[in-house]
Amino acid sequence: MSITVTNVSKQFGKFQALKDVNLEINSGELLALLGPSGSGKTTLLRIIAGLETADTGNILFNGEDITERHVRKRQVGFVFQHYALFRHMTVFENIAFGLRVKPRSQRPTNAQITDRVMHLLQMVQLEGLAQRHPSQLSGGQRQRVALARALAVEPQMLLLDEPFGALDARVRQELRQWLRHLHDELHITSIFVTHDQEEALEVADRIVVMNHGQIEQIGTPEEVYDTPANPFVFNFLGSVN
Ligand code: ADP
Repeated sequence: MSITVTNVSKQFGKFQALKDVNLEINSGELLALLGPSGSGKTTLLRIIAGLETADTGNILFNGEDITERHVRKRQVGFVFQHYALFRHMTVFENIAFGLRVKPRSQRPTNAQITDRVMHLLQMVQLEGLAQRHPSQLSGGQRQRVALARALAVEPQMLLLDEPFGALDARVRQELRQWLRHLHDELHITSIFVTHDQEEALEVADRIVVMNHGQIEQIGTPEEVYDTPANPFVFNFLGSVN
């Protein structure tokens, strides 16, 4: 699914979080929103998701204006840094949850749900852990369950907000490869927010560099690395982690 963001602005009180943002996201691409804390990355992601409304501007999905469409109708899968799994549910039930709460007419049968969940568990290589509870998993395993849960409802778009931020460096590295691998397999249009330039450079097809609520640069990792529009911002980002 392609996404077009046109003239999107957002103000919180007197603070202008986004200023006239324009962005074209190609179908099937893995896009990184990169920038320092407070630069507007999460706000932009939430507006695309439908979790937040823009003050001005509009959002098109495949050319269709969905600015007014409710979040539930946008077919989005989410993975957030602190998007906790349900602690009282097994891994299996966590992943199945989105399928069980579908309206009756769209709800798969129990057999279909089992098939789908087992397939997803295989994809994130957690087959043996279906009956565990989140507290029995490592941080990296939990985020893989979160990825599987987001994918369960076959979203047209995957939105990830600092998905690996809370994890240690080795696990983060492993999950980056996971994300790239899953994306290459599924070709879902995906946007992930990060303040880690290494992560963006390694994983993304294209990088959107944000600063003070505006887009400073859009380019491939090579372009952004070789000719940063704002070397200070890019160097600064590198020194954050
Ligand atoms: P980033 O993801 O780049 O760190 P955000 O989009 O989260 O930036 O935030 C941009 C700015 O908008 C921040 O300074 C933040 O304080 C402010 N902001 C974000 N959401 C809200 C909100 N719901 N209410 C008030 N201010 C907000």
